[in-house]
Amino acid sequence: MGKEYISAEDIKYHLSNLKQLTFEVTDACNLNCKYCAYGEFYNDYDHRKNKKISLPAALKLIDYLVELWNSAQNVSANRNVYVGFYGGEPLLNMPFIKSIVDYIDNLHCPHRTFIYTMTTNALLLGRYMDYLANHDFNLLISLDGDEYNTSYRVNKSNESAYPLIIKNVDALKEKYPGYFMEKVNFNAVLHNRNSINEIYEFFKTRYNKIPSIGELNNMGIRPDKEDLFQRTYRNSRESLRQSENYEAIEQDMFMKSGTYQSATTFLHRYSGHVYHDYTELLFGQKEKTIPTGTCIPFGKKMFVTVNSKILPCEKIGQQYALGSVSKTSVELDFQAIADKYNAYYAKLERQCSKCRRYNSCLQCIFNLNNLNETPVCYGFMDEKRFHAYQAGQIDFLRKHPEEYYRIMEKVTVE
Ligand code: SF4
Ligand code: SF4
Repeated sequence: MGKEYISAEDIKYHLSNLKQLTFEVTDACNLNCKYCAYGEFYNDYDHRKNKKISLPAALKLIDYLVELWNSAQNVSANRNVYVGFYGGEPLLNMPFIKSIVDYIDNLHCPHRTFIYTMTTNALLLGRYMDYLANHDFNLLISLDGDEYNTSYRVNKSNESAYPLIIKNVDALKEKYPGYFMEKVNFNAVLHNRNSINEIYEFFKTRYNKIPSIGELNNMGIRPDKEDLFQRTYRNSRESLRQSENYEAIEQDMFMKSGTYQSATTFLHRYSGHVYHDYTELLFGQKEKTIPTGTCIPFGKKMFVTVNSKILPCEKIGQQYALGSVSKTSVELDFQAIADKYNAYYAKLERQCSKCRRYNSCLQCIFNLNNLNETPVCYGFMDEKRFHAYQAGQIDFLRKHPEEYYRIMEKVTVE
């Protein structure tokens, strides 16, 4: 047997303290976005068949988790659990969402507060906004900026979805202004028809919001679509640097900007002033013993696909499912999951043990190519690269000393 980095017990512990449970409510969508993760660029997902998730299976999984949440393994006195609805377009399966919300609202689970979240394209928001606002959903609306910026988001007849999205979002803002300010956010995809500057200006001016901005996912690209993908892809750092007032934009975006996220990781790992818990405060930071920056299974969340596969999150290929659920049982073999992760870690051990980024690594193992054969991490840092990284972070903090205090005061350690 190889080295044991994580054990079956670790996995049980994280499930008993799960922070987020997300359901892929349906794989159907009422849009046909050109860059969709289930679209023409990619080949690492289950084929979409306009399917809906099984309600009995989802309820079975909730019961299974409630048992763990109410067990002695639960150490969270009062934890928020985010219950997420994801798609496809989740609003196409509203009966499932309503049933889950009803069920959870009536659970006996004294140590948990449930918060509902949803990522939506807003096309059906006009019909369902009352329900979502009344149940205090955190809404993340996908929109890429103005009409041209959003022009990859088209319906099945290849027409722009922008007019209907904007009509619905404006109506929500008008009808529930307080809810809109507090609970509604936007997620934009960066590509060759927009820029960080345009996206930022659009949301700031129209809704007084700062959007999250993501790049196109470059994993699992079909070889015959590589050229088209490269033409569509835009790098966020480069796009940001092209804006005249990029420093002001970054400052306003704060933890939604890559620069601040990097500075925060750097400070949390190397300042020596950040502690994850009282044990660390009293006895010093624990030494990192697991290669890569991958989360422990279910340490961040659990994602359940429309085909009832169980994954550690929605951002990785579905070939990495860790188990499954049906209306009669939950198949999660903690030992098999631990063995699988331990085998992956062992493949990276040699590279990671020599890498100077080891303590602040954010690389997820599932985003490396060739994971099942010989994965290579291109983020590897030798002494020279690490010094350049360190110098870059220190330079930023030297130029913006006030940001040191802002990060230390405002960003909590997970
Ligand atoms: S991308 Fe990787 S590290 Fe991040 S939540 Fe998913 S599995 Fe965990
Ligand atoms: S960045 Fe370094 S520590 Fe992280 S996965 Fe790559 S080689 Fe390992």
